[in-house]
Amino acid sequence: MREGATRKDIEELVSLLHEVGAEAHVSRGEYRTVIGVIGDREKVMQMPFEAYPAVEKVIPIMKPYKLVSREFQDEPTAIPVGDAEIGGGGFTIIAGPCSVENEAQVVEAARAAKAAGAGLFRGGAFKPRTSPYSFQGLGEEGLEILARARSETGLPIVTEVLDVRDIELVSRYADVLQVGARNMQNFLMLRELGFQDKPILLKRGMSATIEEWLMAAEYILKEGNNRVILCERGIRTFETATRNTLDISAIPMVKGLSHLPVIVDPSHATGVRELVPPLCRAALAAGADGVMVEMHPHPREALCDGSQSLTIDDFREMMVELKKLAAFLGRR
Ligand code: PEP
Ligand code: MN
Repeated sequence: MREGATRKDIEELVSLLHEVGAEAHVSRGEYRTVIGVIGDREKVMQMPFEAYPAVEKVIPIMKPYKLVSREFQDEPTAIPVGDAEIGGGGFTIIAGPCSVENEAQVVEAARAAKAAGAGLFRGGAFKPRTSPYSFQGLGEEGLEILARARSETGLPIVTEVLDVRDIELVSRYADVLQVGARNMQNFLMLRELGFQDKPILLKRGMSATIEEWLMAAEYILKEGNNRVILCERGIRTFETATRNTLDISAIPMVKGLSHLPVIVDPSHATGVRELVPPLCRAALAAGADGVMVEMHPHPREALCDGSQSLTIDDFREMMVELKKLAAFLGRR
């Protein structure tokens, strides 16, 4: 729409679109409003949009994903969560253990995360484990512990929702709902998350292409939730020296294709603690909006992913280095 289009102009177009059976997604930016139209191409393209003075231009989006695309919204999406923000130009750190084990572990990790400058705290209460005999997480008890860590530190909580049946429960405790790599194409769950009033951290599937990943995000935006944070967490390649292979090129690629924030998880990408700090620096340099790292007060005793977890000291040192690099790059 042209700058200065009125609410009435917009409503008129939206009802016209509804008349031809199309969906209209209205996105109000600082200067202009964009109406994303999804519907029968033939019918929609026959409509005389340009005859409306309030319409500036009509841009067909050829990509299979629409609402997540830069064509739909050029302005980057910034997602405030508590006192933190993801995607607003700063570099946001999410840190915490792989899984919630007990209150002492979680509170110690959360205090250390906060003290070193993390913006959000992570920890899994429902764990997607390769083996059904491995620790599966504490469930609701784990969520309660996370909530206590939030009241201790003020850090918002990121935690995984593993099953569509748990969405309501996890939403009661979490500030950001995480969709794990293994659930990236759980389309029914994505759809349900689209109705939630919480930001979604959507991990890239371990064998998903960038297009498949963006289509997964599209499922969430389609139902009205446009607060999606994309997380590159490594993909499967022939390489066995690392758990996965971090796709650094995905950062500038996805930032170019989509307005959504992109963060990186070097812990699951590598499986190796020592590789986490250098890859966090690489993520910052490549233009990511943040990182999510695993950190544990006693990694050797961790019930899950100890070998990729930073110690509290490692995390502190890493943060010092990241702050220097951020200052050099003119990032916050
Ligand atoms: C996690 O972040 O705890 C996790 C299980 O990661 P992923 O889904 O990327 O394997
Ligand atoms: Mn983990």
